[in-house]
Amino acid sequence: MKILVINSGSSSLKYQLFDMESGNVLAKGGCERIGAGGAVTHKVPGRENYSIEVDLPSHDRALEIVFGLLTDKEHGVISSIDEIDAVGHRVAHGGEKYTKSSRVDDEMINYLETIVPINPLHGPPAIKGMRACVRLLPKTPQAAVFDTSFYSDIEDFRYIYALPYEYYTEDGVRRYGFHGTSHRYVSQKTAEFLGKDVKTLKMITCHLGNGSSITAVDGGKAIDTSMGFTPQEGIPMGTRSGSIDPTIIPFIMKKHGLSPDEMADVLNKKSGLLGITGLSNDFRNCLAASNEGNERATLALKMLSNGIKKIIGSYVAELNGLDVLVFTAGIGENQYELRRMVCENMDALGIVIDEEKNKNFTRGIPFDITGEKSKVKVLIVPTDEEYMIALDTQRLCK
Ligand code: ADP
Repeated sequence: MKILVINSGSSSLKYQLFDMESGNVLAKGGCERIGAGGAVTHKVPGRENYSIEVDLPSHDRALEIVFGLLTDKEHGVISSIDEIDAVGHRVAHGGEKYTKSSRVDDEMINYLETIVPINPLHGPPAIKGMRACVRLLPKTPQAAVFDTSFYSDIEDFRYIYALPYEYYTEDGVRRYGFHGTSHRYVSQKTAEFLGKDVKTLKMITCHLGNGSSITAVDGGKAIDTSMGFTPQEGIPMGTRSGSIDPTIIPFIMKKHGLSPDEMADVLNKKSGLLGITGLSNDFRNCLAASNEGNERATLALKMLSNGIKKIIGSYVAELNGLDVLVFTAGIGENQYELRRMVCENMDALGIVIDEEKNKNFTRGIPFDITGEKSKVKVLIVPTDEEYMIALDTQRLCK
């Protein structure tokens, strides 16, 4: 079975074509600057990357180009788009209705339209991508995999905000949680790696990338997570502030005369590592600056690692124990310095890492960095959201 996984952003569209029998990626790539020019990069394992500049006025056009590349004589990997057995869409938000991955139909797309007000950034492009795909491949079964659905078991006292209750019932203001597909994949992979049943494990999974979230997983189910109503809540991120005292927002808006959109822009695009350092949203650049003596870069790294530590501590309390702590995503998988900072002085919680293993880890595979005296297993587990989406799509579209 061949499954195409699509991830539509506002001006981008990423794709991966999987052969599910082998689990291999046959081709992958991305369209950038949709609606404002256009560029496509197409990668086939074992061949040179192929990049083109091409006008991409819409997601429809981007998909046509992708289908053209996948079936191209020179750059393609299939002879016809009929060879695509199913399509899986990454969808950030499933609202309260879509609590699990589901087949795409009109009812779903119509519902997703209704929740655009609570998902204004990611909703419209995901809907565009789904509509375009349904139009271009009308006979091919399609599934949507939601980043929020892993959190459907979280209890109300953990997802309701202490605001007037009507904001929840009438406006949908509650914690939804994001990155669920990654946390779900990583928690399953962790159990598999340890040779244990996921139902027997208490885990904390730390997805640390440009956007970061931490999830408490009890017996394979998420019981709490750091992102909330939007992917803005939680720890400081590349450009997002994470949790702050909410009253700062009206204070700054009044003082600097900012509109709601301008304020949202500050919180989403100008804060986090970029905001603190004034240099970069990229952890690597912040680390390099800190090593050269830049005090604000050092401050940012301390704020980030302490933010992660505080959430881990609170989740150990909520889980009433911990068997496994897992690091994943760009920073979690690659940056041993951050893992060291997070795990230092955590022995009271039973968390001790092996400094050597942490530093000399093997990239790209699950890797155990547990220290000799640790009561908790500490692992690096590479995430693969696209493969998780392909697996769900395979199950739903067989
Ligand atoms: P996104 O959330 O956009 O998917 P990533 O998971 O790729 O982002 O994470 C981006 C962050 O991870 C950056 O801060 C970057 O410094 C770090 N990172 C990504 N890849 C590497 C790498 N190979 N080595 C070191 N750091 C990396």
